[in-house]
Amino acid sequence: MGLKLGVGGVLPSGMKMDKSRQVVADIVERGLCCGCGICAGVCPNRNLEMALCGNGDIAPILVGECPSGCQLCMQVCPFGPQSKSEDRLAKTRFGCSEEAKFEKTVGLYLESFVGYSLVSDHRARGASGGMATWLLESLVRRGLVDAVVCVGEGKGNDGLFEYKAVADIEALRGAAGSRYYPVSVAEAVALMNEKFKEARYAVVGLPCVLKGLHLAMEALPRLRRRIVYTLGLTCGHMPNRLYTEYLASISGIPPGHLASAKYRLKENTGRAGNFKFQAVAKNGCVGVAIPFSKISNIWSDGYFQVNACNYCDDVFAEVADATFMDAWLPEYSHDPQGHSLIVVRHSALIPIFDEGVRAGGCHLKSLPVSKIVESQSGVIENKRTLLGARLHAASKRGCHVPVKRSVPDAYTYRRFRRKVETQFAIQEASKGLWPILGPRYLFAYRLYLWTLSLPLKLGRTSDRALRVLKSPSLLLRFIRRV
Ligand SMILES: Cc1cc2nc3c(=O)[nH]c(=O)nc-3n(C[C@H](O)[C@H](O)[C@H](O)COP(=O)(O)OP(=O)(O)OC[C@H]3O[C@@H](n4cnc5c(N)ncnc54)[C@H](O)[C@@H]3O)c2cc1C
Ligand code: SF4
Ligand code: SF4
Ligand code: SF4
Repeated sequence: MGLKLGVGGVLPSGMKMDKSRQVVADIVERGLCCGCGICAGVCPNRNLEMALCGNGDIAPILVGECPSGCQLCMQVCPFGPQSKSEDRLAKTRFGCSEEAKFEKTVGLYLESFVGYSLVSDHRARGASGGMATWLLESLVRRGLVDAVVCVGEGKGNDGLFEYKAVADIEALRGAAGSRYYPVSVAEAVALMNEKFKEARYAVVGLPCVLKGLHLAMEALPRLRRRIVYTLGLTCGHMPNRLYTEYLASISGIPPGHLASAKYRLKENTGRAGNFKFQAVAKNGCVGVAIPFSKISNIWSDGYFQVNACNYCDDVFAEVADATFMDAWLPEYSHDPQGHSLIVVRHSALIPIFDEGVRAGGCHLKSLPVSKIVESQSGVIENKRTLLGARLHAASKRGCHVPVKRSVPDAYTYRRFRRKVETQFAIQEASKGLWPILGPRYLFAYRLYLWTLSLPLKLGRTSDRALRVLKSPSLLLRFIRRV
């Protein structure tokens, strides 16, 4: 079930389909697919295959006829109109615990921590403090799971990265780090759902993938039995495959020659955000490393963003048994080795962390959940505060929008109109123009997008100026610097 080249949503000629029943018509063709691949993984008839779309996204295509009455793919799709909300899924899984607390963006939780792994090179290889790999490794070593479904380097022409089931500790350590590259979980879901192959799995994923997985676990008892833990990554948004092509081109490696990429090569000097992008060509040549500070606007302005992310309101993977994120807090971001922040929701994981600290496997301390929220304030503003504005903007244009926990909000739209419309324009232009201009006319491409993003840059500068003017200590620091 590898990735096929094609256009998401296009039906092989001559094939009929009932438009009301499956995800290609209801989700993909409406531009609401995040490319998670859950639908393709659960389809009992293997009717869906994940394909690379011309705009750099991945999405399912229909390759067979659907029996009447089957709507399984719609049921498990995280953007399906009838799918349960994160609140309801989390309540089913964690709501019966008497100790469960609730925070409106984090959802249900038991404890929150900050720390890093002391085992081997977890922290050096990890995106943050290496604690996600630490917990996955602990689950395997304790025999609580037989394999971990995580994202490692891919093979062949299907993509640079793939979801795979690994039981080997070295392979698990090799999968550490963040991949800002859309990866379908379809094959791994099909594997976990295979008849007569009983095994217990832990799955690591972005909030949308885990929401889809939990919907699938509700629908399919076999998956429910086999997936014993799900670990989430906090998610701002996902840029599509063209993001990697673009950065690789800047670093001197044209798209067709790209073999692998690292997004967060740690500098181990300065601050935690001092990491670099580095691409490697098929002939082994290493591209020029690009400091994140030079490309942070590509990320924050939403270049190449998958459209579905515009309508996603789950910041903290609310259905995950534990969620991991960066410690974007002044007290931790001075340390270039990185810290992980962790929200724990499954009570069985707390003793594992406690024993890890006692045995010297990790350094952890409790952190109030308010600090967790503070660390992601920018993401929360974008995914929660601005969601209503984006829903309003999309409805105004006659675009389909998914059913979310927010409703279209004309007032917020008017307040943030310039920001919202500029972000939409950048997403569209960055994906639409790359196949035409880049990488041949890289300079023209970059200049056009830079011009397009000027309103965002001006907005950021005026926000910063206002913050400095409002805070005497910041003002003093600014005057001293000048
Ligand atoms: C697209 C994306 C957006 C993110 N946005 C934010 C954000 O806004 N704020 C924030 O604080 N953190 C964000 N993160 C999470 C952050 O980058 C780290 O992954 C997290 O802090 C865990 O670090 P760690 O050192 O504990 O994990 P590690 O020890 O590095 O382990 C990470 C695990 O995640 C898996 N993984 C890597 N990439 C993916 C992927 N694309 N899909 C599924 N699994 C993957 C790896 O296989 C590995 O098992 C994002 C991550 C991704 C992939
Ligand atoms: S899950 Fe059912 S409705 Fe969906 S593609 Fe497969 S057969 Fe068709
Ligand atoms: S389940 Fe995932 S891949 Fe399938 S249509 Fe929905 S969002 Fe897209
Ligand atoms: S923003 Fe939401 S939809 Fe987009 S990748 Fe992250 S979790 Fe998935």
